[in-house]
Amino acid sequence: MRTLYTRIIVITMLIMILSGIVAFCVTNGYYQFYLKPANDEKVTGIARDIVTIYEKNESQTVEQYLTDMTELGYQFYLADGSGNTQSFGKPFDATDIQFDTIKQVLNGGTYHGIAKYPWRPFITGFFDNKLQNTIGVPISANDGDQYALFLRQNTQQQFGEMRAFLAVMLVLMIVFSFLMVLISTRFLIKPIDKLTAATRKISAGNYHIKLNVIRRDEIGRLARDFQQMSNHLEQTEEKRQEFVSNVSHEIQSPLSSIQGFSQALREEDMTVEERKRYLSIIENESRRLSQLSRQLLTLSSLDDDAKAHEKTPIQLHEQLKDVIAASEWLWREKEMAVELGNVSEVIYGYPKLLHQVWTNLLANAIRYSESGGAVEISANSDKNTVTVTVEDNGIGINETDIPHLFERFYKVDKARTRTEKSTGLGLSIVKKIIELHGGTITVESKPLEGSQFHVTLPKAS
Ligand code: ADP
Repeated sequence: MRTLYTRIIVITMLIMILSGIVAFCVTNGYYQFYLKPANDEKVTGIARDIVTIYEKNESQTVEQYLTDMTELGYQFYLADGSGNTQSFGKPFDATDIQFDTIKQVLNGGTYHGIAKYPWRPFITGFFDNKLQNTIGVPISANDGDQYALFLRQNTQQQFGEMRAFLAVMLVLMIVFSFLMVLISTRFLIKPIDKLTAATRKISAGNYHIKLNVIRRDEIGRLARDFQQMSNHLEQTEEKRQEFVSNVSHEIQSPLSSIQGFSQALREEDMTVEERKRYLSIIENESRRLSQLSRQLLTLSSLDDDAKAHEKTPIQLHEQLKDVIAASEWLWREKEMAVELGNVSEVIYGYPKLLHQVWTNLLANAIRYSESGGAVEISANSDKNTVTVTVEDNGIGINETDIPHLFERFYKVDKARTRTEKSTGLGLSIVKKIIELHGGTITVESKPLEGSQFHVTLPKAS
């Protein structure tokens, strides 16, 4: 039984055979305990009627009468007290009846052979053409002789066609059931074969799968879920490849500029100013690389074990004040003003991670504003949430770019961000951290007017 197909067929066949055996045993029991005594009673009544009719009709000998009666579907055995016997109608296969029994019937008794006929589990005895399996009644012939008359239905004559009919029906039923099981099992197994082939494809790295299973049962549901899973895997694989190529690209450009400028530094005839400028470019590019690797590490640690951080109540006002103070050199350098509104709420979260959120948002607000601009940080709260808004009056963002802002490595103005220490990872880190807190982030922005980043977080309960 190596395949599910053969397993189902063999099990179904076994079930059919077992059900057949059980059904036969039950009906056999029903025949033995209920139908057999009833049949005995019925045949006894008929035997008495046959005797009564004969005894009223004096014109025939008992032999002639019984010969006529065989036409009605009965077989007879006539015995007298001296051991003479005669058969009428279909002869009995066995005439193994005791002489005592014949004597009892001759003396006026009735022999109930049908009810007493022995039975075994798989043999009903209904069709057994034996003298033991008869009803015996006394009969007086017109010439005054006493006989014992044994009779039973000629089952061959009465039920022969029925027997053939039932046998043909049973054989056809078995053949058709077998064929149906073969076909329906194929139909049942087919989607599983498809799923197996699809699983093999996926394990070989091919995620592009079309299953085309339209069934609505459990297997159909499994196929649809499987299809969804493979689509998801395909997307994840695409994202992974895109991520790897983005990372390589981000690493490649600072590395080649470090390489180029270090080679240039080998030149002997170079002014001290030129040398200093090259060295500062190399330093900046190394910083960029270092920031990139730090941000990638942050992203992967958020992916893996965000829960390694401890959740504690956070005084928002204190934290935002710290962030503004820490980036003072940034906004002072651009002669900008940073204003912190009245933020009195407490949040339950990961302090280090939230610190990173405000730092990134404030750094962006400063980076993407002209010198002399202003940044305002404020908070609003309702019953369950606090919304912190970081608003700048900087360069703003085009409507078409807003949906992509939180994608990894997404930069609006590639030329501009190339010169800045920009990686395009800041906002994706922000979004991830906010999601870890069960919060959301939205953006409102207009080019040349400024941007507002709204961070909504659940309040500490
Ligand atoms: P980056 O390291 O490039 O700043 P981010 O993920 O933080 O990466 O930002 C993605 C892009 O969104 C930036 O390249 C920038 O074009 C745009 N952006 C982010 N914040 C602002 C802002 N306050 N004003 C204008 N543009 C912004």
